[in-house]
Amino acid sequence: MDTINTDILICGAGAAGLTLAIELARRHVDFMLVDKIDGPFSGSRGKGIQPRTLEIFEAMGVVDRMVAAGGAYPPQRKYRADGGYDEQPSTEGLAPSPAEPYNLPLMLPQYLTEGILRDRLAELGHAPRFGQELTGFEQHADGVTARLARADGTTTTVRARYLVGADGGRSFVRKALAIDFPGESMKMRAMVADLSLTGLDRGAWHRWGDGPGQISLCPLMGTDLFQLQMPVPLEGDIDTSDAALAAVIAARTGRADIALHAVHWRSVYEMSSRLADRYRVGRVFIAGDAAHVHPPTGGQGLNTSVQDAWNLGWKLAAVVDGAPDALLDTYEAERREVAAAMLGLAGKLLEAARTRGDLRRGRETQQLDLGYRTSPLACDARGDDAIVRAGDRAPDAPCRGAAGQPLRLFTLLAAGGWTLLRYEPDGAGVVAPRKGLRIVTVGMDGELRDDGGHLRTAYGFAPGEVALIRPDGYIGALASDERGPALNTYIANSLI
Ligand SMILES: Cc1cc2nc3c(=O)[nH]c(=O)nc-3n(C[C@H](O)[C@H](O)[C@H](O)COP(=O)(O)OP(=O)(O)OC[C@H]3O[C@@H](n4cnc5c(N)ncnc54)[C@H](O)[C@@H]3O)c2cc1C
Repeated sequence: MDTINTDILICGAGAAGLTLAIELARRHVDFMLVDKIDGPFSGSRGKGIQPRTLEIFEAMGVVDRMVAAGGAYPPQRKYRADGGYDEQPSTEGLAPSPAEPYNLPLMLPQYLTEGILRDRLAELGHAPRFGQELTGFEQHADGVTARLARADGTTTTVRARYLVGADGGRSFVRKALAIDFPGESMKMRAMVADLSLTGLDRGAWHRWGDGPGQISLCPLMGTDLFQLQMPVPLEGDIDTSDAALAAVIAARTGRADIALHAVHWRSVYEMSSRLADRYRVGRVFIAGDAAHVHPPTGGQGLNTSVQDAWNLGWKLAAVVDGAPDALLDTYEAERREVAAAMLGLAGKLLEAARTRGDLRRGRETQQLDLGYRTSPLACDARGDDAIVRAGDRAPDAPCRGAAGQPLRLFTLLAAGGWTLLRYEPDGAGVVAPRKGLRIVTVGMDGELRDDGGHLRTAYGFAPGEVALIRPDGYIGALASDERGPALNTYIANSLI
């Protein structure tokens, strides 16, 4: 039996596990990423990537690949009984703004998203180890001992400082920790499948019927496939054979001209809404669907899973590098509240779709307004009427470098450390440079020029004010005076 030592063992190489792996790899943390399946998952499942996740993918260096590989959501086309149809946009977006560069969700089948994340991980010198199942673990004062099993009967022992269960809705890690997963069944079962078919144009998300007899066929951007979604009876076996699918498409659409040629992936799942009571027990964490499951309405699950990992990644890296362990407690404090709100949203959208046929998706699904104002990591003296508060997402701003070149704030933030923005200061800085902290002076004599006033508008800056932005692009602290004790205590406690 092999024994491997590592800092972080990540169980599950889905969207959450891959994001966490990239964040650790970018920071040169030693980790091991395992998945029990033999090779990459091949279904479309979570196909909607929300604007906030696109911002995160920009920082991870993959957003342009994602956008090039996918496409925009087509309009919803609802067929009437007389054969005619009505169309409505799938998403409501405002125009992109200097502060919010991505205004619409991207459609990209989950297997393509995960493939791009694996490619990024490969560029950083790592890869998931498939065919390795976590079958047990014990915690000690200074680490976790885990057992991995392979199909050929061989096993590996892994000694890690921390274990992260990014192992999906049926999470082995969550169950092994005896974390409660309260919630409710939505008493709905649905089928999802990826199909090659002819007879439908790819310019619309086609929908027929209401209630239990409805069916939808959505062109999957970046592929030649359509994604089928339809409710199926809650009880009993469901025939998912190719012939049964062809028959149900004909019956529910009433169309003889839609020809099914191949079924590439299919799945039947029961909808439920559940939230884990805890995200951390000792040295073990859960992230993604392991911590929350909910109906797919609103396309929130993959996004929330990626953002869990995005929140946890820099914190794990900092603690491995010597930051206080208490930083890791802020992961549950910040992310569980976000998931609780997201569960409510997905349920509300499911109800609107079920009762009113309302399929529009507005700003609330875009995740740009999520933040951590009540977090222990939020420090500011501004009032609630301020344009941004500590804990909020740090807005983007197109600026110029001192040489006159265009330079977006997000480009600076993508480096992944802390950033202290000193806005038009009246003298030399008092915060000393330190590992992991970039100090950026904004002003006509500074390294960053806010000549369009976008930083001032987005942050409500007055001359002399400072913003300390966290490695994950949220505002940690806002202060009117960089010499004040609050900011300096914050820096002393939060940055190693
Ligand atoms: C029909 C449908 C539509 C959806 N649409 C959207 C959408 O538009 N937008 C959106 O954001 N989300 C959507 N989702 C949800 C999305 O698919 C999930 O939220 C997302 O896959 C969660 O990612 P994850 O990494 O947490 O878990 P998963 O993707 O489930 O990955 C978990 C991994 O852990 C591995 N694993 C499990 N146990 C072990 C073990 N013991 N040892 C080793 N490995 C293990 C599994 O093999 C798996 O690869 C949709 C889901 C469905 C079903």
